[in-house]
Parts: sequence; C-alpha cells; structure tokens
Amino acid sequence: MRSPSTHRSRPPSPREERGAWLVLALLAVAALAGAGLLALSMMPGDWRLQEEAPPDPPQPAATRPAAPPLGPAPDPVVAPKVLDERPYDLNDRAIAALDEGRLDEAVELLEEAAAARPDVAAFGANLGEAYLRRARAGEGGADAAIDDFEAALEWIEDPERRAQVEGLQQRARRVRDEERDFVVEPTLHFTFKYDGSRGELTEGVDRLKVLLEDTYQEFGEQFGRRPVEAGEGRIEVILYDAAGFDSVTGLGDWAGGIFDGKIRVPVEDLRTELRFARVKSVLRHETAHAFTRSIGGAAVPSWLNEGVAQWLEEPARRSSGVGVARARLASSSLFPLARLNGNLVGWEDRAEVARAYDQALAFVDHLSVQYGPEIVFSMIAACREGGVEGAAAHFKARTLVELDPVLGDLADSLTR
Ligand SMILES: [Zn+2]
Repeated sequence: MRSPSTHRSRPPSPREERGAWLVLALLAVAALAGAGLLALSMMPGDWRLQEEAPPDPPQPAATRPAAPPLGPAPDPVVAPKVLDERPYDLNDRAIAALDEGRLDEAVELLEEAAAARPDVAAFGANLGEAYLRRARAGEGGADAAIDDFEAALEWIEDPERRAQVEGLQQRARRVRDEERDFVVEPTLHFTFKYDGSRGELTEGVDRLKVLLEDTYQEFGEQFGRRPVEAGEGRIEVILYDAAGFDSVTGLGDWAGGIFDGKIRVPVEDLRTELRFARVKSVLRHETAHAFTRSIGGAAVPSWLNEGVAQWLEEPARRSSGVGVARARLASSSLFPLARLNGNLVGWEDRAEVARAYDQALAFVDHLSVQYGPEIVFSMIAACREGGVEGAAAHFKARTLVELDPVLGDLADSLTR
C-alpha cells in the first residue's frame, strides 16, 4: 500500500487487506465411529482472516473406515451393520480437489457427503470451508461469492467465525455495489476496472495501460517470473473515487493504494501531470506487491515486501528517496529485523510505522548495493518454500553471511 501524502507505503488494515484472504487450516480429526471404527475426516481448524496467506493444504484422511473385524456371527435378530464407505470416499476426493484448487468439484462432493451422512459433523464443516474458499476465490463473480458466504454460514456455528464470515460477506456486497457499473478493459497482463462515465479518467487510463505493460516486462526481468505466463490470471487494477475506495477498503483518503490480491487505487483525476505521476508510481508499487506475492507467496517478510515495492516505485528518483530515508533513520536506532517480519498493521505509532518503511527501503537498497540486486529478488523467491525465515536463510546460504549483522552495517553506514 502507499500513501500519497507522504509518498510512503502503508500496510493494509487488518479488516480489509488481511480479510481478503481466508486461511482455512484444515486439520485431520479422528472421529471414533460406533463400532470402534476410526474414521479420519477433514475438519476446519483454526482458520483466521489473513490476507497475506494462502490456504494451508488440507490433510488428506489418512485412515479409511476399516472393514468390520471378523468375529462371531452377529446376533441373528439384529441386522448386520453395513458400513457405507461412499461418503468417506467423497470426503477424501473433496480434500484432494480442494488441495488442487478445484473448488466447484469439492463443493459438489461435500454436498453429497453431507447429505448422505448428516450425522457426521465433519462433512458439514468441510462443506462450509469449501464454500468459504470458493467465495474467497471469487471466480464466479461477486453475486456467486455472496451466495457462497451465505451457504458457508449455514454450516458455521461458532459466533466468532460467523462474525468474520459475515464481515467478509458485507465487504463483498460493498465491492459488488461499488463496481457494478465499472467498465472492464483487459490488456495483455492486466484487467482495468473503473467507472467509464468519469471523463477525467479515460485518457489517463489509456496511458496507464501502456505504462503498466512496460512495468510488467521490467518487473518480469527483475523478479525472474511473469505471473500471467506462469498460469496466473491477469492482475486486476481497480480505480475508485475516494468514497468508493473508502467503502471497499475502509482505508479513508490517506492511503494511496492497496494490494489484496487485486490492486485497488483511489483516483480523483488523471488530467494533471502531477496527479497522473502519483497514480503511476502507486500502481508500480502495488504491481511490485503483485509480483512479490506471485514469486514469494504469502510469507515474505514485510521489510522485504515493502522495501522492494518502494525501491521499484520510481527508479529515476530512487537515490533521492533512499537518501531521504537514510537521513531520517540516522537519528534513531533501527528495528530488529524480526520486528519487521510480520504485518505492520497493528502498529499504533504512525511515526514508528514511517520509520519501519524507511528502514525497509534503506535496507533493501543497502543489500542491493552491497550484494547485488539479484539477491533481493531471490530472497523473495526463497520465501515460497522457506516461509518468513526463508529470506534470511537464503541470504546466508548464498553469501555465507548472517543477515542481522548486515543490518548493523547499514546502521553504521548511516552515521558515517
Ligand atoms: Zn506497499
């Protein structure tokens, strides 16, 4: 995210940017069936709202319902219980489908399993989670997502979870209402959405399309991956007026933009060069977040994510921007890196947030100057497998130097 007033990036609000992604941690839960049979089913675990993380892979059911043990013949007056394995099969197949992103199929399988065995709570719970994932993916459009949130709520009892899902559903409604009449204009790698009746945007949007396609190629070189060519969808760029942006993101007018899987930017007017230039640099910043997500996944540390996004905003003005950040940092001590790993959203103190962003930019620049820019991008990529610690581990493996002391080098260089 990026603030226009200060030319600084800001973290998303937990309510909005984080709320856009659902982490559905699906745990395998053992359920003892009546005749001493063990059935492992997928159950929703401690899922929470977090924009930055993709769903954890569901754990496949490890144990099938065992065949009834051989033993004495059942009492002839009691009909022998026949175990119907089919719903468990459906559940297993649904887990595999969820794992591979085949959400429609997962929903269908679980609907059947839950209908066949309404007494197995895990099937219903899994169905609720599948609806949630499909709603979150939003591939069927806003109305379908809103319906899926509704369907999910039928299977969720926990009041706290219900409140979270209801919040997501309300946001989906606001997004639908806001974007109802937007034109949709795809380019090669982006899909632009905006209110086509706003004459103050039209010409500027055409210029932005060209610039952003150039940016895509530039970032593709630097990040070593082109998301669309790698099989991902076009990057959505949605332009709102100030009120619409606030309605959809809850961020008010201080934020310059947000990436929550889509790039959302408030744009008042593109007819003056100053405003155009500002939007352009916001879009470059948010596009950098899109590339970072694409190659590094959800666990890229904030200092690296925001550092790179700022570093790529305006190459022509990079050195002056870095110089300003370094000058501001010189007067106080730096944050330990670990403190800048997670989302900076919860930080109350605006001045501290500003310093965190300064430090992110200065440190990424320092790494790039001392070790070459390539290390910065490969550190991002390393987070896909290595999680939030992947960046530092990769740095050490490549340079034989611990990352934390390099931050000390940066601190020393500020006061020299
Ligand atoms: Zn940002």
